[in-house]
Amino acid sequence: MTVLVTGGAGYIGSHTVLALVEAGERVVVIDNLSTGFSSFVPEGVPLFIGDAGDENLVEGVIASQRVDAIIHFAGSVIVSESMRDPLGYYRNNTMTSRSLLNAAVTRHVRNIIFSSTAAVYGNPDRTPVPEEAPTRPLSPYGCSKLMTEIMLHDSAAAYGLNYVALRYFNVAGADPLARIGLATAGATHLLKIAVEAATGQRARVDVFGTDYATPDGSCIRDFIHVADLAQAHVAALRYLRQGGSPTTLNCGYGRGYSVLETIDAVRRVAGRNFAVASAARRPGDIVAMVADTSRIRRTLDWTPRYDDLDTIAGHAMAWERKLLAQRQGFELEAISA
Ligand code: UDP
Repeated sequence: MTVLVTGGAGYIGSHTVLALVEAGERVVVIDNLSTGFSSFVPEGVPLFIGDAGDENLVEGVIASQRVDAIIHFAGSVIVSESMRDPLGYYRNNTMTSRSLLNAAVTRHVRNIIFSSTAAVYGNPDRTPVPEEAPTRPLSPYGCSKLMTEIMLHDSAAAYGLNYVALRYFNVAGADPLARIGLATAGATHLLKIAVEAATGQRARVDVFGTDYATPDGSCIRDFIHVADLAQAHVAALRYLRQGGSPTTLNCGYGRGYSVLETIDAVRRVAGRNFAVASAARRPGDIVAMVADTSRIRRTLDWTPRYDDLDTIAGHAMAWERKLLAQRQGFELEAISA
């Protein structure tokens, strides 16, 4: 039995590959390395460089590696980018997923775990948001992921596919041992921006909107540590293999922090201050997003270990410092060469 992880060289994918390997699973990765890093794939895990939407490649890997489950991460993940390039998002997310599912159905792989997002809810009527809340995405990113959820639902009914769609809230932090973390250039995610500011790599953090109807005027998010999210995938795999029925689960901790509180946590763990400025609202942003986590806690054998904003920020800082030291080391080598 082998687990195929698409996007396994990316941020969440690589943490999940590590967790799977540590749980004793045999894993293979397909990644086109557009945003991922081959160095993030652990030794001994075969990496096939290519697109998750390339049906020939996927079918070949399924057959040659005896794949019984697919965890599908590959895709584009930036809300603001999706507003500028919706068709790119429907290609990279929706069309790729359609091809992958077709390959899975053709080759009789029944178990699928899909990276979905809280962005499928749009602005919820109330928080915490349960999975039954209406889905009204505000961005092509959210729509592109919701379309895949619909395909999964219909494919389960028609072809007997079994799946868990995990709706991620705000994923942050890094491997607690700082082996891997978020390394993609051109960061847009709040915690990454804040740790870059804390390490002197950017002049300040802009807060996109300080006039929202929230206690401090900034948006509210439910941050989940990437290592806990990785473990949720391991638990979802176990659930599917034990015959659990198709389901959709929120992945968060059920607690919201404002953008300003999050920035403060980074200042605290970094032990240094950096500039913060008020800026205009960002198009497509949801005001407050906090998960109702009762279903995931009920369904999966999953207990978060890093449910603490300072811990998340601390691990993100440790990884950022390591990344920076590595980069500076390379630059020094280049100068002295
Ligand atoms: N944000 C911000 N400044 C930044 C990056 C993000 O104020 O430089 C805010 C953003 O407007 C949103 C929250 O932080 O309210 C989380 O944004 P992020 O891009 O990290 O994740 P999203 O919730 O959009 O998936």
